[in-house]
Amino acid sequence: SYLYADGNGATATRRNVAIVGAGPVGSLAALNFARMGHEVQLYEYREDIRKAQLVQGRSINLALSQRGRKALAAVGLEQQVLATAIPMRGRMLHSVKGRTSIVLYDPCNNQCLYSVGRKRLNELLLDACDAFPNIHCHFEHKLVKANIREGRLQFRQGKEKQKPRQKEQEQEQEPAQEQLICASADLIVGCDGAFSALRQQLVRQPGFNYSQEYIGTGYLELCIPAKDNEFQMPPNYLHIWPRDSFMMIALPNQDKSFTVTLSMPFEVFEQLKTQQQLLDFFRTHYVDALPLIGEQQLIKDFFKSRPQHLMSVKCKPYHYMDKALILGDAAHAMVPYYGQGLNAGMEDLTLLNSILNQQLTLDVALEKFTESRWRDAHAICDLAMYNYVEMRDLTKRWSFRCRKWLDTT
Ligand code: FAD
Repeated sequence: SYLYADGNGATATRRNVAIVGAGPVGSLAALNFARMGHEVQLYEYREDIRKAQLVQGRSINLALSQRGRKALAAVGLEQQVLATAIPMRGRMLHSVKGRTSIVLYDPCNNQCLYSVGRKRLNELLLDACDAFPNIHCHFEHKLVKANIREGRLQFRQGKEKQKPRQKEQEQEQEPAQEQLICASADLIVGCDGAFSALRQQLVRQPGFNYSQEYIGTGYLELCIPAKDNEFQMPPNYLHIWPRDSFMMIALPNQDKSFTVTLSMPFEVFEQLKTQQQLLDFFRTHYVDALPLIGEQQLIKDFFKSRPQHLMSVKCKPYHYMDKALILGDAAHAMVPYYGQGLNAGMEDLTLLNSILNQQLTLDVALEKFTESRWRDAHAICDLAMYNYVEMRDLTKRWSFRCRKWLDTT
């Protein structure tokens, strides 16, 4: 019953599907196509995240919402993911003086977001992939070329060579030993993130519209460690320090630490050149967070890395005939301030499944997917951009106007 039929429901077609990128959306896509009975090749640039010591990439934890939960439930993984997630029932706002106030997300129905570990989530999805004999994972395979008309792919195989952090951001990483691998597929699905190599092929097709926008704000991750094996702040909130043109947020982790994301215009980052300037800045703007992070740890973490860039991508269509499709960040990367990038990527699969189950021919199904998805995807990119202003600025004003706020200090 998982096989979808080709044309009038008459013949079930088992396709050879190549999925590029085994991040959360790619591994979820693999599960969905495998459940329909297709033969899935899952290619990932990096080493298997389950074996990786240090996971490079963005944000250690993510806010999981209803969109993502629904997609996980469809492959039977929602409860497993929630088992190690931390509920966040609202925003805890931190004023300049260090006073806190709470704005609940849903005081009536008690709905909440969940803080989930990115690595843990990806691991669970890949473990689930291992249970399918028709999913074949290929790690350390970087897509370098694709001919989407003919369904041909070329991968560079090999381990990423580690480079000093600064160079890492300026140059593309190269594998230690280069080996080119060729493959073919009936359908190529690009889940290879914001800088998608597969999308680069679609960009060349007539009628493909594409735009990207970098914002002038960068982000850097810091940490509030556990103290005496306890959280240093109330764990069941998304903590926000709104400061007009910049802000900081913190999400709880299973090990009782918080991952802190400091977002500021690049000019502000550049002004903080010395340890003293950094400490003075935190004493002025984040007085309550400074002792929790620890002065020495702040200095170490702040100066060891450079702020990361953020961008938003809109494009259309998401498919090419019945040959290629892009999902997740590859199709609609957004700035992280709405906490919906991953959730929207997972929702792509909820929609795609419902369309594939309608027994349409694949080209019609993929066209229907684009048509049903692009307005919402563009809208959520806009909302994410808007929420950046809301979080850094409006939350501050709103919290002080709101009558129902609860002062916790
Ligand atoms: P990715 O996670 O980028 O995965 C793409 C995969 O493809 C990677 O494994 C990569 O190695 C691989 N790949 C790339 N190129 C190639 C290639 N050429 N060949 C083979 N493989 C390749 N979203 C939320 O929903 N909630 C949040 O709270 C949230 N917080 C965020 C915080 C920050 C700071 C940032 C930056 C983002 C946040 N997001 C959040 C967005 C979320 O991280 C992304 O939307 C999500 O990771 C997209 O998943 P993906 O699988 O599409 O892409």
